[in-house]
Amino acid sequence: MVSNKMAQAMEKGSFIRKMFEEGNRLRALHGADKVFDFSIGNPDLEPPAEVLTVLSEQAAATGSGLHGYMSNNGYLETRTAVAEWLNQPGLPEPVTPDLICMTVGAAGALNVALKAILDPGDEVIVLAPFFVEYTAYIDNQGGKCVVVPCLPDTFQPDLQAIAAAITPRTKAIILNTPNNPTGTIYSAETLQALDALLQAQPQSIMAISDEPYSAIAFDGQTVPSTLANIQNMIMCYSWSKSLSLPGERIGFCAVSPRCPNAKQLAAACTYANRVLGFVNAPALMQRIITHVLNARVDVARYESRRNALYDILTSCGFNATCPAGGFYIFLKSPISDDLAFADACARHNVLLVPGQGFGYGGYVRLCFAVPDSTIAGSRSAFEKIAQEFSVQQS
Ligand code: PLP
Repeated sequence: MVSNKMAQAMEKGSFIRKMFEEGNRLRALHGADKVFDFSIGNPDLEPPAEVLTVLSEQAAATGSGLHGYMSNNGYLETRTAVAEWLNQPGLPEPVTPDLICMTVGAAGALNVALKAILDPGDEVIVLAPFFVEYTAYIDNQGGKCVVVPCLPDTFQPDLQAIAAAITPRTKAIILNTPNNPTGTIYSAETLQALDALLQAQPQSIMAISDEPYSAIAFDGQTVPSTLANIQNMIMCYSWSKSLSLPGERIGFCAVSPRCPNAKQLAAACTYANRVLGFVNAPALMQRIITHVLNARVDVARYESRRNALYDILTSCGFNATCPAGGFYIFLKSPISDDLAFADACARHNVLLVPGQGFGYGGYVRLCFAVPDSTIAGSRSAFEKIAQEFSVQQS
């Protein structure tokens, strides 16, 4: 028998699943090429060739213990390579392998980090709009989610609003740059101001920085380093997006060496990895990652898709901030009811996710990690949608 709590959570968190089912229904009815599905954030580019080569080499490798358990934080060789990869010039203190715990994707890393620091009832600030699973992860680890909206239009963290939301129970704040769903990259100034705000509090507040999109930045930008700018933080990373490996479930969390008691915190992450039932990150994927840390998917292809979709939307008169990274556009709904707007789009075979699914109504999210043909083919549907909602075409 499903618990009431679970039944309610499943109902609340079902936006993307509903879109997925609607997509299947529409594809069966009209044919796949007539349906423009921008709902799911599943990278459609294949992993880089180099990754596939190392994957087959490692899969064929023989030797004793290759498929056995290891330390719960992962292979030392992998953590050493990841630490070197993280230690870019400009970091005030180097990350050491013992501060890294290899995890089952960024989702695993977030759960591990939260479990390591939360006591029951501790508050965790999330910045709306946000990746909806945060609420479930915080609840999983006994915390209470406190939602703080970002600044309108730029979607940068609103420091005044964050300051006002801090209570004696605040234990952490989750950051996500580049952001899902807005594509915003937090500026170095914002990160520094946030750090100053956290440092000024009487209690220790941890920034948990969720960064699976940090390799995907456009227009020649680089993503300001959270590790360089924030003292008290745990970085959560995965290769789900940068190497198109979301099904392989590989990532890590890294405790900043500038955290007080960093080693104890890293040990807590390792213990959390074990008792959450992950035990350790997949062995084969750890061995592969060790050799391909500098590979990445062809970000230029995502950038050209962003340009193409953004051009279609804005030339139809829709209002959106051009995303600086990630692979989503967060579009202002021409009517305040984003659910009704998403339903209307589905009637034109365009699937997108209502902003309410990210704790931010009045917007919808479109994922542009889809084939070029889906983007190009959607133009006339968007023109019709713009007409239906009297959006002024430019
Ligand atoms: N965080 C954000 C913002 C995401 O968008 C996602 C996946 O889409 C995740 C975390 C989970 O990533 P992973 O597949 O590495 O667990």
